[in-house]
Amino acid sequence: MPKLIAANWKMNKTIKESISFIEEFKKITKNIGNAEIVVCPPFTLLHEIKKLLKNSDIKLGAQNMHFEDAGAYTGEISPLMLKEIGCEYVILGHSERREIFNEDDFLINKKTISALNHGLKPILCIGENLEQRKNAKTEEVIENQLRNCLKNIDKNQIAEITIAYEPVWAISRGDPNHRAATKEDAEEGHQFIRNIVAALYDENTAEKTRIIYGGSMKPENAKELLAMPNIDGGLVGNASLKAESFAEIVRAAK
Ligand code: PEP
Repeated sequence: MPKLIAANWKMNKTIKESISFIEEFKKITKNIGNAEIVVCPPFTLLHEIKKLLKNSDIKLGAQNMHFEDAGAYTGEISPLMLKEIGCEYVILGHSERREIFNEDDFLINKKTISALNHGLKPILCIGENLEQRKNAKTEEVIENQLRNCLKNIDKNQIAEITIAYEPVWAISRGDPNHRAATKEDAEEGHQFIRNIVAALYDENTAEKTRIIYGGSMKPENAKELLAMPNIDGGLVGNASLKAESFAEIVRAAK
């Protein structure tokens, strides 16, 4: 299974900026390894970027969605709309959605089921915050998030889900010098997640589940993180905003 390297641009880039990124990124990533690459821009850029990605292997993802197909939900975007525009992936349950917009596991589970029903591949984010880690609650938090968010999702559907382990304390919030998890701490989290997936489904399913790391991944640390046995890729925020640094991470994913 190739590693998955996904860019989470969050609320960044105008159309003009995104065009020059994609044009440069396409050039420098030609023939640089076999990672699966996904770009998740803001909704306003999806249409333009889809056009630019024609004849390229780079895939398109969204950063969020509503679980309903249509209706009176001012300001929301539906899975039908994401499918129509050409998204293959959708990030769900990001810690910024959980913390700033009060999304809980119950809602994230509904979104995950809806995404799967529409043929969208969820990148399901989980992870503990600093206080929970300090209080030795990491495993409890991760296990609860997994159990709740994967409720009523069967063994065949889990194959379409990528789990992103994003310890909230490691997320850069735009600070390029922010400290990532060590490769050992990240690996420990990933191993634990795989064990829970095995308990919820079975060993074989757990082996095949893609678990990617997010939290201050950058060119300087990507290689060592991506070399860990249970780290199947990366969800990259700040370092995905520049074509050269995102490409450097893709290069590290051999
Ligand atoms: C993220 O928020 O998904 C993320 C990984 O951000 P960063 O790489 O900037 O820490």
